[in-house]
Amino acid sequence: MQIVIGKYSGYCPGVKRAIKILDGAIDAAAKSKTNKNIYTAGEIIHNPRVVDSYLKKGVNIMKKSCILNPDDTLVIRSHGISPELKDSFKNMGADIIDATCPFVSKAHEIAKKLSEEGYFIILIGEKNHPEVNGIAGNIKTGCYAIIENENEIKNLNCRTKIAVLSQTTQPGYNFDMICRKLIGMFSCEIRIFRTICQTTNLRQKEAVKLASLNDVIIVVGGRNSANTKKLNCMAASVQKKTYHIEDEAEVKKEWFKTTDKVAIISGASTPYDDLENVRKKIESFF
Ligand code: SF4
Repeated sequence: MQIVIGKYSGYCPGVKRAIKILDGAIDAAAKSKTNKNIYTAGEIIHNPRVVDSYLKKGVNIMKKSCILNPDDTLVIRSHGISPELKDSFKNMGADIIDATCPFVSKAHEIAKKLSEEGYFIILIGEKNHPEVNGIAGNIKTGCYAIIENENEIKNLNCRTKIAVLSQTTQPGYNFDMICRKLIGMFSCEIRIFRTICQTTNLRQKEAVKLASLNDVIIVVGGRNSANTKKLNCMAASVQKKTYHIEDEAEVKKEWFKTTDKVAIISGASTPYDDLENVRKKIESFF
C-alpha cells in the first residue's frame, strides 16, 4: 500500500494565524492579574476537536446573549465579522483582537469601496456562512445579492453597474461559470473580483489531481467546515471511494485493499497531526 498526504493539507495560513493569535491571548490572560475572560466570536475554527481543546482551556464562545466586560478579550476568528457587529463588541469596552484572515479583510475592503461607488454587488458564496455575512456587512442594505449557483442568476434584476465578488473558499469553476453567465445576461458594466484565496485554489486542484491518481481518498475535517465539504465533493466527483471523516477513529479497514494507493487530504481547519494520525491508523490495519 502507498499512502500520501496532500502537500497543501493541514491548517491554511489564515487559520494558523488565528490559532497563534488566540494562543497569545490565552498566554497574556494567564500572566495578567485581572480576571480576564477570553471569548471567540463564533468557534475559532470549524473543527470540533480543536474547539473542544480550547473550551477545556477556558475559552468561551461568544453568543448573542453574552455581554463582554471591559476586562474581557474577544478574538475575531479568521472568517471575520461585519463592521456593525465589530462596533457592537467594541462598544462593550472589551479588548478586541482581530484575527480576520488578510484575504478576507481584502474582500471586505473591496466590497465597501464598490458599495460606496454605487455598484450592485453579487457575492458568490454560501448564504448564512459567517465569512459571507461579514463581507456583506460592508455593503449598503438592498445593494447586494448572495448567490450559490448558476440557477439563482435568473432571479437577479437588471442593474446599471454590477460587481462580482467571491467567498474566499469558493471553487474557481463555480465562480467562473457564474461570471460567464452574468456577462451573457447583462449588458451593463460588470466588474469581476476573483476574491478566492490561492491556498484554497491549490488545495482544491490538488484534491482533484490526487483523486484521479489514487484508489482511495480520505478527506479529514469538521463536518461543519464548508471548505472541507467542498473538497470532499470535488474529490468524490472523480474518485467514488472518497470518505469524509473528522478523525482517525472513523477510519474503517474495509475501505482499503493492500494494493491500494491512498491519498489523505484535509480542509483548511484541520491540524496536520490529524492527517498523520489517520495515516498511522491505516498502516496499523496491514
Ligand atoms: S482559506 Fe484562505 S482566506 Fe480562508 S482563512 Fe485560510 S488562508 Fe484565509
